[in-house]
Amino acid sequence: MSRLRYSDASLEGAHAASDAAYRTQLAYLWDHSEFYRKKLAAAGISSVEDAGGLDDIARLPFTEKDELRASRDETHPIGRHLAAPMSDIVRVYSTSGTTGTPSYIPLTKSDLANWVEISMRSYGASGLAQGERMVTTYNAGPFVAGVTLDAFAKLGVCHIPVGAGNTERLMAAVQLLKPTVLGCTPSYALHLAEWAVERGVDIAASSVNKILVAGEPGGGEPAMRQRIEKAWGARVTEAMGIGDISVSLWGECVHQDGMHFSGAGFVHFELIDPDSGETVPISDGAEGELVYTHLKHAAAPLLRFRSRDRVRLSTGACPCGRDGSRVRCVGRTDDLLIVRGVNVFPSAVRDVVGKIGNGVSGAIAIRPTARSVKQAPPLPVVVELAQGAEPDDALAGLIRKRLRDELLVSTDITMVPFGTLPRTDYKSKLVDWSEAE
Ligand SMILES: [Zn+2]
Repeated sequence: MSRLRYSDASLEGAHAASDAAYRTQLAYLWDHSEFYRKKLAAAGISSVEDAGGLDDIARLPFTEKDELRASRDETHPIGRHLAAPMSDIVRVYSTSGTTGTPSYIPLTKSDLANWVEISMRSYGASGLAQGERMVTTYNAGPFVAGVTLDAFAKLGVCHIPVGAGNTERLMAAVQLLKPTVLGCTPSYALHLAEWAVERGVDIAASSVNKILVAGEPGGGEPAMRQRIEKAWGARVTEAMGIGDISVSLWGECVHQDGMHFSGAGFVHFELIDPDSGETVPISDGAEGELVYTHLKHAAAPLLRFRSRDRVRLSTGACPCGRDGSRVRCVGRTDDLLIVRGVNVFPSAVRDVVGKIGNGVSGAIAIRPTARSVKQAPPLPVVVELAQGAEPDDALAGLIRKRLRDELLVSTDITMVPFGTLPRTDYKSKLVDWSEAE
């Protein structure tokens, strides 16, 4: 599969540079990674030369998160994919995984510098620059999001970290320090809007005119984005990365038409069909799962790493002049439910319900009856009403119809009063498994 059908000379140049970096990365892995030497040999690849270049990448096997986890033991606490000596490692992050032992993500000095560069491109696209004052609620701690803090400093942004879990402290910072930018999850931006309404605080009149969201897909859902923008009187843009590959790999510009790829030269991305594993050609409107390959990584480079992030790609020109592709996240494979053969992403359900407008708060929960990806219809969906709104059969019927028309899924709608579903200063859980058998 050649990407050289692009006529644009600069893209061809970029492809040639990426191809050269990729071949060097493969040779490095062959020499330094027991994990990949074995894995490539098992896939029938006899030498680095045999693996070829970027145009042959689809011949290589995928790398799954579970394989990395399984390669850990007492003598290899990071995993057998560690390709650099520990004496070269300058930082070790952890993943916020829900299961038991954390996974570790090591970085060398050059890896860290490259991540900061990628993050600067991503947040630079969103308009972060010297002169902006940004209040953030990231509890970066042990997590890779910590690298963004280095990027903010290097961009010259006045960064005001207030951490998560203290809305009073955050709103005090907004009122006293008058930041122009708020950085948080989309769920928290919405929660702050409700908090302000309850206390009669006019956040639309606040100094905040940009909201940079990350950490979950909601920032790209039109209904949720519109709610946040209206409440805050601010423009919402989003960013997306993935711990094992890089933070902030994608960043949306002021034209708000998806997140620009910010990893060029450091990371190669592909789209695949998540069911068959087949390559999906890079073209405008293409949909698939993102698969990433490091091009210049040293500590623990990964080949064809499956992200589980499903995206829709745009490749047309953007008025900002940035080259390359932009994406919108459609959902995470891990959240996917299949109802009578139809794929249903919980975030898509939230978007359809949110577009109903004034009658609903925008919060939903899916309560499956079976503990399985596959669900029998109708899918139980709890919809929270807007403040002061009463349950209404006509509204429930309208929501049921919209979900059937737009997502081809039959649902059973339960309406609950405003404030019933949990609010969060982090990511919303859209699937509540408590009633599943
Ligand atoms: Zn743009």
